Amino acid sequence: MENFEFVSPTHFVFGRDAEAQVGAKLADQGAAKVLLHYGGGSAERSGLLGRVRESLAAAGIKCVELGGVRPNPEITLVREGVALCKQHGIDWVLAVGGGSVVDSAKAIAVGARATCDVWQFFETKQQTNDVLPIAVVLTIPAAGSEASPNAVVSNDELGRKTGYGNDAQRPKLAFLNPELTFTLPPYQTAAGLTDMFCHLLERFFDDYGAVPVTDNLNLSLMKTIRAEAPRVLADPENYDARANIMWAGMLCHQGLAGVGRHEDWATHGLEHELSAFDTSITHGAGLAVMFPAWMEYVHGENPARFAFYGREVFGLVTSGDVEADALSAIDETRSFFASLGMPTTLAELGFDEARLEEAIADMLPTLAANKGNPFGSFKRLSMEDAAAIYRSAL
Ligand code: NAP
Ligand code: FE
Repeated sequence: MENFEFVSPTHFVFGRDAEAQVGAKLADQGAAKVLLHYGGGSAERSGLLGRVRESLAAAGIKCVELGGVRPNPEITLVREGVALCKQHGIDWVLAVGGGSVVDSAKAIAVGARATCDVWQFFETKQQTNDVLPIAVVLTIPAAGSEASPNAVVSNDELGRKTGYGNDAQRPKLAFLNPELTFTLPPYQTAAGLTDMFCHLLERFFDDYGAVPVTDNLNLSLMKTIRAEAPRVLADPENYDARANIMWAGMLCHQGLAGVGRHEDWATHGLEHELSAFDTSITHGAGLAVMFPAWMEYVHGENPARFAFYGREVFGLVTSGDVEADALSAIDETRSFFASLGMPTTLAELGFDEARLEEAIADMLPTLAANKGNPFGSFKRLSMEDAAAIYRSAL
């Protein structure tokens, strides 16, 4: 097992009506004036924002609002949030929404105490401990940002989407009420399931050997998602299925499922370029296409690891031919994403050969800047490899 540090400062409030405690718990922490940050309207329509405002007011907490975070959040709104925090002396940032809102809130919390432009942190990855504390009311289990140290933000002017990791931006408070996810459209539920499953895959397939304590936790989460996914899709108001998925989404990405390993993250890199090139692409849908394509390209490095995964997660029976077993495991992965209603090809995401070549020319320089060249760990990938993986996904 590799040496590691693991920080997990998040206080979770999980279950029905969790959001009613937002004001009281923030007041316990000494919050006086929060920036209430949210997305494009779902939280207003569902009545959630109203309940959060009431809870804050009842606890005597003042609040400045900034809505309008789009999926694949953008740096311009982050800068607006930073300015509001500085202008109003904000002491906590409260995100109400999904990964996009949480990531935008994290970026604001980092920028609020900085003297440089907030994009600098995404550019240079420089660390700071001077970060406003963050609270989250989660409305979609997917990104795992409610407890993770990462934020992913787009810069449309530069045509880039890149991540910034810092334990100081892990949320301090997270309110998880599975009932808030009943209103999710099936496509968003499916994209979330895919994203959390891929957070496990990124950690399971790297260039390190077995770490049983970590690997078994990881595999049990994969099995849980496989079992619960059809239940939430068939019955969106199944509280227990939603609850298992909501908690799994956090566990998939707060870090424990990868400790002591190297982790890979090449496929997230490939996907971030896609959803930066075309911001209408949902992160999970992009991953559903790119992960099986990456697996096919790299599996020869360690087919036994894929065969093991196929047996553990999909119950495949050993054929005696490890290469055939690895390929079956990859087929099962693609079929699982398809069974959720996710796309399996870039063509389904609106690409033909000409548009893909245009995209590849656009994406490779930013991929190299964001991930390095070469990148990945299970197999070190050059930009030629990346182009080949994109082409194989068409
Ligand atoms: P999201 O982008 O936050 O939300 C997706 C859509 O779902 C939005 O249109 C949102 O609408 C809607 N929605 C959210 N909750 C809803 C609800 N309860 N009912 C109805 N509609 C709802 O989704 P996400 O998958 O959580 O976040 C994706 C982002 O996270 C991507 O940018 C991805 O790259 C990033 N990411 C970050 C990390 C990390 O560690 N930080 C990890 C993986 C991915 P409204 O806007 O109207 O609310
Ligand atoms: Fe992700």
